[in-house]
Amino acid sequence: MCSAAAIKENLGVTALEEYPQVSICIDCARHPSLKRIIAARSVTGICAFCCRDDVVVRDPQDIEPMVMLLRALIRFYWDEFAYNSHWGGESTPALFADDTNLVVTPPVADTYQDEFYLLLEEPPYPDPDKGIAIYAGFDEDGTRHLNLALSRSNPSILRKLAQRLLTDDFGDVAPAMEALIDPFLSDLAFTLPKGTIGMRARTGVQATFQHFDNFETELRRQPYTGAAIGASPTPGHGRLNREGEPVLYLASKVYTALAEIRPHPGHYVSVGGFETLADLKLADFDPDIALFSQNEVRLDQFDIIQAFDRLMSTPVTPNDKGSYLLTQLLAVVLRQKGFDGVQYRSSVSDGVNFCLLDPASAQFMEGHSGVHHVRGITYDAPASPVVLVPGFEDYELKS
Ligand SMILES: [Zn+2]
Repeated sequence: MCSAAAIKENLGVTALEEYPQVSICIDCARHPSLKRIIAARSVTGICAFCCRDDVVVRDPQDIEPMVMLLRALIRFYWDEFAYNSHWGGESTPALFADDTNLVVTPPVADTYQDEFYLLLEEPPYPDPDKGIAIYAGFDEDGTRHLNLALSRSNPSILRKLAQRLLTDDFGDVAPAMEALIDPFLSDLAFTLPKGTIGMRARTGVQATFQHFDNFETELRRQPYTGAAIGASPTPGHGRLNREGEPVLYLASKVYTALAEIRPHPGHYVSVGGFETLADLKLADFDPDIALFSQNEVRLDQFDIIQAFDRLMSTPVTPNDKGSYLLTQLLAVVLRQKGFDGVQYRSSVSDGVNFCLLDPASAQFMEGHSGVHHVRGITYDAPASPVVLVPGFEDYELKS
């Protein structure tokens, strides 16, 4: 922020207008939303990252949607203390210079970096309905605030609703849930076409046979099929269903379905396919962030959507009492609003999950069944920075 402001002051407005108009090229964009927003309005121009001047870039004459998307992505991936030097962090250029960032390829030279960061950081505090700020800034009373990464945030409005659900009836809390999701529901709606195949998995098999073929023998397993791998008619509590209320949880891929039930090494797992019997209206809780990157009001909505998505993709464990009430109520309100189901991310695979609120809206189909033997499970667990004895420079975060 400081360097951009200083450049502006030193250059004066006239000189600034004569400066090269830089942008980002489609090759340097890593995040799919960034690629899409460049493709949506592209010209041949200068890329501030690869420093080529004849590449397909977002039109510098219509750059604001891309700038606000970049700000939204910064808010999504990073806590403010990572890039606000007032909090002991680095500056925003350091975020994109890090080759592990998921947004853009690091710059090959700093030729156009001043121009780029002037674009990215000015104006720093647009009105909440006009743009997105990457710095939380100060209150009117001078209290400093710090933005936490949206990808990890737990919005206070959801915590309050969850608290109410521990004591109040669903019916009493439903109006508050409806008011919360109503402003963005139409952004999440999509049609899951008739004939879509969704996969289910169940640990174990129907039967095991010894198969004889001349002098060779092998064990062959018969997968669960039909109702034996369908929705339980008497389910326990699930993320999107209350005890005794059946819904059909499906996954887009075999591996996703299998990983979602978290089998142990050594297990044999049956998989089977279910076909949707009509066009279904679903709500997608993992939408493109670019739909919500115009301003703070929209980004706040994305924060709520992401929090629901994380809740749905987190498995229910027996000591989870209460943590599934919010998403169960969400399903109740979605049903009232005419939705047939919900789509959400998988926390264990790159596929997606969908929950059909009426199990009869899809039927078992022959031809997709199989048995998988779980040989091993891999964990993605890099070493993370630690503090053993917190000191003055360690600021404890309260969620
Ligand atoms: Zn480039």
